Amino acid sequence: MFDITAIPALQDNYIWAIHDDRHAVVVDPGDATPVLAFLDAQGLLLDAILCTHRHHDHTGGIAELREVYNVPVYGRRHPNNLHITDELREGDKLKLEGLGAQFDIIEIPGHVDDHIAFIGPGIVFCGDVLFGAGCGRNFEGTPAQLHHSLQRLAQLPDTTRVYCAHEYTAANLRFALACEPDNPAVKQRIATTQQLRAANQITLPSTIALEKATNPFLRCTQPEIIRTLQQRGLTDTSERGVSELGIFTAMREWKNHF
Ligand SMILES: [Zn+2]
Repeated sequence: MFDITAIPALQDNYIWAIHDDRHAVVVDPGDATPVLAFLDAQGLLLDAILCTHRHHDHTGGIAELREVYNVPVYGRRHPNNLHITDELREGDKLKLEGLGAQFDIIEIPGHVDDHIAFIGPGIVFCGDVLFGAGCGRNFEGTPAQLHHSLQRLAQLPDTTRVYCAHEYTAANLRFALACEPDNPAVKQRIATTQQLRAANQITLPSTIALEKATNPFLRCTQPEIIRTLQQRGLTDTSERGVSELGIFTAMREWKNHF
């Protein structure tokens, strides 16, 4: 069995370390320094690096880590990500022998084209696609792709623990409350999140159940969300405007300026 530990990095990134008492694998090391410090403090050896997508705050530490540990880097290849040594695509399985962990790979475009998720037993590493109470920006691809990727994650079992790559939960919940002022689950999560942050604790992992109850981007068919967007004039009342994708697109656009 293995533990999963957050290594805070850069502004608000989490580099997740999957480890036992001897070996570790890290997900999205945007900076090598805190990873090397963690490995050193825990007396762990690095076995591999997992990469959800090519953004620098997820890959910036890979070269330096590999100067110390010549380990494989698993992810999806992209012309702007030359770090990947072992490509993973939709439907692939990744077995981490040392840790006894196995992951199913799904492609989840919509933040960037090369984004993948690592789905393990009761856990998912979803990078910048699904956040606590929010979702990533739509830098590449269509809103429909991002929506579809989020829906695929939402179909994981309710108890799945969600390991996102950023501490954005508090800010996302302010937006969630604007979308659904009467959702008691959002209010409850705001209270819990405030307590955690006041105690300098992280708000992750969340669960798929919690995201489905509080994340507006997984709740595009909720009447209150549709009403909010219509009252703000952010979507029209035509069939296209109130389609699930129409609501998602309008909400993602609103969040960009929130
Ligand atoms: Zn990103």
